[in-house]
Amino acid sequence: MDGSSAADQKSYEERIRQLELQARPLDPDVGERVRLKDKVIAYADSFLEAIDGRPAFVMSEGWDSALYDSQISEGPTDPDEVLGLLDRGVIQRGVNVGSAGHLAYIPGSNLYASALADYVAAVTNRYSGLYFASPGAVRMERMLLRWMADLLGYPPTSAGDLTSGGSIASLVGIVTAREAHDLKARDYGRAVVYLSAQSHHAIDKALRIAGLKESVKRFVPLDGRHRIRPEVLEEAVKGDAKAGLYPWLIAATAGTTDTGAVDPLADLADIARRRGLWLHVDGAYGAPFALTGHGEQILKGIERSDSVVLDPHKGLFLPFGSGAVLVREGERLLEAHHYDASYLQDKDTLASGDEVSPADLSPELTRPFRALRLWLPLKLAGVAPFRAALEEKLLLARHFHERMRLEEGFEVGPPPDLSIVTFRYLPRRGDPDAFNRRLIEAVQRDGRVFLSSTKIDGKFTLRAAILSLRTHLETVELAIEILREKAKQLEREG
Ligand SMILES: *Cc1c(COP(=O)(O)O)cnc(C)c1O
Repeated sequence: MDGSSAADQKSYEERIRQLELQARPLDPDVGERVRLKDKVIAYADSFLEAIDGRPAFVMSEGWDSALYDSQISEGPTDPDEVLGLLDRGVIQRGVNVGSAGHLAYIPGSNLYASALADYVAAVTNRYSGLYFASPGAVRMERMLLRWMADLLGYPPTSAGDLTSGGSIASLVGIVTAREAHDLKARDYGRAVVYLSAQSHHAIDKALRIAGLKESVKRFVPLDGRHRIRPEVLEEAVKGDAKAGLYPWLIAATAGTTDTGAVDPLADLADIARRRGLWLHVDGAYGAPFALTGHGEQILKGIERSDSVVLDPHKGLFLPFGSGAVLVREGERLLEAHHYDASYLQDKDTLASGDEVSPADLSPELTRPFRALRLWLPLKLAGVAPFRAALEEKLLLARHFHERMRLEEGFEVGPPPDLSIVTFRYLPRRGDPDAFNRRLIEAVQRDGRVFLSSTKIDGKFTLRAAILSLRTHLETVELAIEILREKAKQLEREG
């Protein structure tokens, strides 16, 4: 094709016009937008209307081919059919996240204002990675990080990153710790990390991704409430240093996933200071409780950590996709993640204004306009309802613990540090582990509430994690009723 003749030129233009028309469905006009949007919103509304009427958990029984039977094809599919497929193939099975009865793992919620914010963020699609591209999106993000820093008592020189979740946030913290201590490959085998058997596996994963698989892990013994024993930790640090190792990182947890235990952060901060270690606090679940009076007390010392992780998609009730990491000395975060050395010329950048781009403080370059899903609900509702909701969850957990303590046949774990309660049934006959396994299966099959289990000190243990926005007093009463009923039934069946 030489493309030089007038005829060729014309067919070329025709083809372009043709393609434009064929691609038109991707850019609907206002009438089409309204029709589609109304259908989608109607679906979302019907979901929310029914959310607490649906089971908190629906076991997937066998193979469901709804999605696979409708492969991606050249041609369009009718919107009603698409929404039907979504509902059948995805929404109706598994965990009903955001429902009142979701008391397993760490429940998430689906704050409505965040969902609308995600819509607006996607429609406007501001580029939040670079300051010049959207100064406003970057300011919004920095303002939210500052709000979190103030909440946890971090200084004005701290900096942070809004991430997709707690795992990535911990990775950012650990990479920052690695760079701050100038660890080189030759040091990895003698770098020592202190953690607990209750530390989230995201910490171990982050260490491996950060290249530190060979680092020495010391699992510090815990007290009766599953918290790191600081005096044992300090002895271990001293011993390791004497043995020629390099004590480097304390990975503490503010609210373990299993039991909600909060490590003694103030003591750990003292040790980190004294012995020159980096203190990373995984507060993915627990840190948002700093909004409450009780949380403020129990989290004391968090302000002296070197890095801290907090998941808005847990304790601030956002839909999944929101974590955050804060680093006390913001420069350290910048040093570990900048992509342009010239930014380092100006030592005061972090304190001086808005010039630092998230791309310089984060593993990501292009990223969603993530700030809006937190900013919009905080602005629309104010902080007070968040504070109240978290305080409610703390009290519900205490209530549940107290009630289960008195419930015949059950034994409970320690009073909850935060909003997770552990317990198990002690059957009159037979193996308690096997009984509790059958009990949790019966509860999950019932589906009205969704609880999960774990192993604590080798024992099969049940747990209730109270954090869903919609979990209220009646949900907790219902959970107790179901547990009582199922345990009785299993006892009868022998
Ligand atoms: C949930 C959780 C994580 C992991 O965070 P994601 O957001 O799921 O990546 C890490 N640590 C603790 C204590 C958690 O509860």
